[in-house]
Amino acid sequence: MAKAWTLKSRPAGMPNHENFELVDLPDAPLGPNQVRVANSWLSVDPYMRGRMVDRESYVPPFQIGEPMQGGAVGRIIESNHPDYAEGDLVQHMAGWRDVSVAEPMAMLTKLPETGLPDHLWLSNMGLTGATAWFGLMKVASAKPDDVVFVSAAAGAVGSAVIQIAKAKGMKAIGSAGGPEKCAWVRELGADACIDYKAGPVLPQLREAAPNGISVYFDNVGGEHLDAALACSVPFSRYAMCGMIEVYNDFEKGVSQEMHHLMMLVGLRINMRGFIVSDFMADFPEFHQDMGAMIAAGAVKSRETVMDGIESMPDAFLGLFSGKNTGKMLVKV
Ligand code: NDP
Repeated sequence: MAKAWTLKSRPAGMPNHENFELVDLPDAPLGPNQVRVANSWLSVDPYMRGRMVDRESYVPPFQIGEPMQGGAVGRIIESNHPDYAEGDLVQHMAGWRDVSVAEPMAMLTKLPETGLPDHLWLSNMGLTGATAWFGLMKVASAKPDDVVFVSAAAGAVGSAVIQIAKAKGMKAIGSAGGPEKCAWVRELGADACIDYKAGPVLPQLREAAPNGISVYFDNVGGEHLDAALACSVPFSRYAMCGMIEVYNDFEKGVSQEMHHLMMLVGLRINMRGFIVSDFMADFPEFHQDMGAMIAAGAVKSRETVMDGIESMPDAFLGLFSGKNTGKMLVKV
């Protein structure tokens, strides 16, 4: 019998344990082209907060009483598909459970046996790394002479952005919550790291980038975005990846106080939102470049790992209080 986390109720504000329920899923026989996967790693991601809201978006909302979804990596234990065999390493989106039924039509992919640790397919070789790579290289069109500012720089996406920027010869400035996280961001090669919990962002960013920034990779929104606007050079490019500062404010209506929005006009800033799935067709280019940077030691991974399917809600909730350094994962 598989175990799955379902959405028990929709949160208002910061979610809590009451919103989740762990249930037993009976082992139904496989349908045509389906496989059964014993998951070894499960991903929790900030965007899942948006799926807890009943609204139209780029991904459908989680349904009350239904198993939640998310990235997972594991090995096939039973197959009803001619191209997938028992023992194959796969990635799919039927996460939040220890054993999943998946099919190629619903984002099941076979992974190559590269010798890389399996969980890298949920971090730097997976959607996380792809978000960083496409956001920096394609959305912001970053070049070696750019000065890149990255918020949530000690997180999964942010730490990848810092390392890619440095590997490509850019100047990189991170922002993270606390001295330990900032020390790690500098260890990754960042030229500076702002501790946004130690004081306001803007004066710290002015000091770290006296000649201004030309690229902003936004994971947070709010004060960070406002400070970036105040410190940008003309024709800066912004990759608008996420705004975690307001994810728990949705029900109240999003409100972020901005003082420097007008800079968009005078500085002719190009601000572009993106979703990583916009770039699915270009994933081979990402895998090749990221794979080479990992092999060369230019991009390293760090994970915060929680143990067991029972810890999924704790891992997810921890994203909103910065419990993770690097990628937050659950080891089943
Ligand atoms: P992270 O690993 O970065 O985890 C979230 C981090 O955000 C925490 O560790 C915490 O770090 C920081 N944080 C939490 N709350 C706040 C707050 N109120 N103010 C400032 N920082 C905060 O998550 P991911 O790397 O998975 O995601 C990073 C961002 O990228 C998110 O906004 C996410 O939604 C977005 N994203 C977008 C994608 C896309 O396709 N557009 C795809 C994947 C992710 P700290 O301790 O430093 O505060």
